[in-house]
Amino acid sequence: MRILVTNDDGIHADGLGVLEKIAGELSDDVWVVAPEAEQSGAGHSLTLNQPLRYVKLASRRYAVRGTPTDCVMMATNHIIQDGAPDLVLSGVNRGSNLGEDVTYSGTIAAAMEGTLAGVPSIALSQAVNVQEGRIDWAPAETFGASIVRDLLKEGWPETVLMNVNFPALGAESVKGIEVTHQGQRDVTDMRIEARHDMRGLPYYWFALSRALGAQPEDSDLQVVRDGFISVTPLHLNLTHEATRQRMEGTLSRRFENG
Ligand code: MN
Repeated sequence: MRILVTNDDGIHADGLGVLEKIAGELSDDVWVVAPEAEQSGAGHSLTLNQPLRYVKLASRRYAVRGTPTDCVMMATNHIIQDGAPDLVLSGVNRGSNLGEDVTYSGTIAAAMEGTLAGVPSIALSQAVNVQEGRIDWAPAETFGASIVRDLLKEGWPETVLMNVNFPALGAESVKGIEVTHQGQRDVTDMRIEARHDMRGLPYYWFALSRALGAQPEDSDLQVVRDGFISVTPLHLNLTHEATRQRMEGTLSRRFENG
């Protein structure tokens, strides 16, 4: 099995090393194509307005000066010449990707791009202990390979990707695995902090408090908070079917030439 490993935290990130170890437990044929610099929050963007460059760092190990999506595109269409990957693994992200995080996340986007390329793809993220600002990779390290193996055995549709999140606990305290829905954060308390540089000019930081609103019990946000590993199947088709059906009866019409 050929595995492509990528991420959005960059080629030097600790979580990439964790994912390489996970991939190494599953196969000897592991390729790493990851961004040269951190791309968290890049979403599913791709580089169209400047040239793309990459460097080969070692055998089957490349750094791309671009986004996670660029990495998957370059890997599957250019860098890996002698056979497509059978699996894309993205992460392990430093911090969870839950609720609408998935719309901002470069980690998730790499798995989206893998899915679009016809390769089964899994995004993995390790929650951070926010109070202590500390990350313990043990849950991802301990359970990552077995979850990937179980997912591959189970299989999923071609248009679907898997979003796996590990709770911020010691590995021995993880309570189990739950298959969940994408939850919803309360993003109303987003703050923009203004500071001034040494010349007195203002600059700004987004301060994302990422509060947890009221959640259904089976949401990804709730189960990770409760100490479970969350597995959420996501799909790329964003159509809201109930609204489409409701509007179809009233808004759809033919013009004279239609
Ligand atoms: Mn990240």
